[in-house]
Amino acid sequence: MDLKNLVLSQLPPLIELYKHFHSNPELSGQEINTSHVLGNQLETCGIKVVRNIGGLGIVGTLENGDGPTIMIRADMDALPITENSGADYASSVNAQDSSGNSVGVMHACGHDLHMTSLVGVAKILSSLKDTWSGKILFVGQPAEEPMFGARAMIADGLFKKFCRPDYCLATHVCPKVHAGSIAVKPGPIMAGVFQLKIIVRGIGGHGAFPHETRDPVMLAARIISSLQTIVSRELSPLSPAVVTVGSIHGGTRANIIPEEVVMELTSRFFDSESRDHILHAIKRICRNEALAMDVPENLLPIIILEEGDELPATDNDLNLYTVVKDAVVENLGENHFVESCMVMGSEDFALYRNSDGIEIPSCLFFTGATSHSDMELFETESIDPPNLHNNKFLPPPEESITAAVTTMTATALKLLDSHK
Ligand code: ZN
Ligand code: ZN
Repeated sequence: MDLKNLVLSQLPPLIELYKHFHSNPELSGQEINTSHVLGNQLETCGIKVVRNIGGLGIVGTLENGDGPTIMIRADMDALPITENSGADYASSVNAQDSSGNSVGVMHACGHDLHMTSLVGVAKILSSLKDTWSGKILFVGQPAEEPMFGARAMIADGLFKKFCRPDYCLATHVCPKVHAGSIAVKPGPIMAGVFQLKIIVRGIGGHGAFPHETRDPVMLAARIISSLQTIVSRELSPLSPAVVTVGSIHGGTRANIIPEEVVMELTSRFFDSESRDHILHAIKRICRNEALAMDVPENLLPIIILEEGDELPATDNDLNLYTVVKDAVVENLGENHFVESCMVMGSEDFALYRNSDGIEIPSCLFFTGATSHSDMELFETESIDPPNLHNNKFLPPPEESITAAVTTMTATALKLLDSHK
């Protein structure tokens, strides 16, 4: 069986579906029509669909006798970005974000392509039911971007209402890889993350009499500088990590020293030792910089880490990596396989692997998302192609969907019991 040709024969309706998703994006937690369409598409493949799992999540079950259970997950949410890709199917959607602001909405992270590929895999595996046995869970997950969708589906009993899969699989588009190619690596592939809020407190007063105050603006500046020594001077240079203060707000007027400054920080890492070290060092630096400025003990910085603001690294199972690699080499050709590097972005797919202390072998692979001609153009001009979350991000759907569906289907067929 030439799987890639089978996928190509199914491509026209998939491209139509992709353009529908792309033109009709919905923000995280608002994926009402998206999940409706995705659920209906799975049902047309003869798959039993249960809706509203963990909010707008859907689970399609394809049962086909005894054998292993595979879960394949696609995320469904789009971003508050006004599209500027120039495509004739570009989004012109506006919506209200959670703060009530009107924002443009765009599938700038390729989740439209992930959903379309899920439907492609469902179509082909349904049509090949006489060649395999086992069970497949097709998961449409809401709210990946704000990191609460996977958590909500697991909390709503994903693995209890359905069953605990033997393997979890997912793909994510990657503009750094040529369309038509697949990139994957064993072990950690995407970073873990925590995001926290730091409330830097001081004693306010007149800007002309700073000696009578404890200036939280000055203290915040010192804390930000010192935080940069965690990665550069405390962690091993061989252990990649990031500490970024991305938001800082304090004060109202030039001549008023405020009572507090609020900062928000994101950290990325690949193992729990680094995570624990970074978090401990942030607390130590905040406390001691404040003490160094003679801030009273009862006004030391407050550090807030909410449970939902944290994800582990996405860690690929070695055996599954080999299965994916073989699927690519056998069906797309060796020249379409890329050994991936680690990426500092994060994914809530990581939560399915170990939601309650029981490990499920998992693998996420990257689907190339920049055409060869665009890649050459960008290379000659020495600039990067538009990355994820950029308003010009526009993968070539034919090549990317073909590679994603072929690889995911071939991987699933290798893991399911074969009848041949
Ligand atoms: Zn994203
Ligand atoms: Zn994404």
